[in-house]
Amino acid sequence: MGIGQRKIRPLVAGNWKMNGLKASLAEALAVRDALTGAEGAFAADVMIAPPATLIGGFAAALGDYPLLLAGQDCHPKASGAHTGDIAAEMLKDAGASAVIVGHSERRADHGETNATVRAKAEAAHRAGIMAIICVGETREERTSGRTLSVVSKQLQQSAPGSATAANTVIAYEPVWAIGTGLTPTPDDVKSVHAAIRNNLISLFGPEGEGMRVLYGGSVKPDNAACLMAVENVDGALVGGASLKAGDFLAIVSAYGDT
Ligand code: PEP
Repeated sequence: MGIGQRKIRPLVAGNWKMNGLKASLAEALAVRDALTGAEGAFAADVMIAPPATLIGGFAAALGDYPLLLAGQDCHPKASGAHTGDIAAEMLKDAGASAVIVGHSERRADHGETNATVRAKAEAAHRAGIMAIICVGETREERTSGRTLSVVSKQLQQSAPGSATAANTVIAYEPVWAIGTGLTPTPDDVKSVHAAIRNNLISLFGPEGEGMRVLYGGSVKPDNAACLMAVENVDGALVGGASLKAGDFLAIVSAYGDT
């Protein structure tokens, strides 16, 4: 099946991490304008996850945008005494239609467990936005041959029973590939995505067949087409290369051959 004829509509999402000020709106507008001008030429949904401080302003400026917005994290609860935290409901209120949960940087920097990630994904569903649940092995886990067992366990313990194809996206992001310029081979990506797909089907039945499974980790304009052509890869989660509209659009162009 050609990259443009997939049954699942792909998603290309940019994770800006802790980068971006109000002036970065120019990059978001450039992406929006390219998508608007291309009117249906890209067979993918396109999303950016700027810092939470920018979501409201971006939503107002983007207007009736073909460019979707996401948060990078949320608290499991809807409100309360949690200084500094942001609820999924707040992200939705600001204009986000999704939230990334369980990114490896949050798992590592904030000690987030699978149970925490699951509670955050449930919060996204409660708020009525999509959860983008990240899983991925460390270098040590890969070299010791534990990739599939680690990723399967993360998936089983992080994806809540409320997950459907419409409200949940899985992002496979090998920790050793994030921000390093290194990527797994297409065959390695294929075997992990096949395992994720099998897990999703056994957990969620037909919903698991339709859930998007993104690849993330050093996706760049020059490797995007190759990675996105792998079976069961339904788009990309892009970090560094999503910060500049030109690079990000070049990645989105992997889905431009409809
Ligand atoms: C990420 O952090 O989600 C990511 C994929 O980063 P990068 O593309 O920079 O490797």
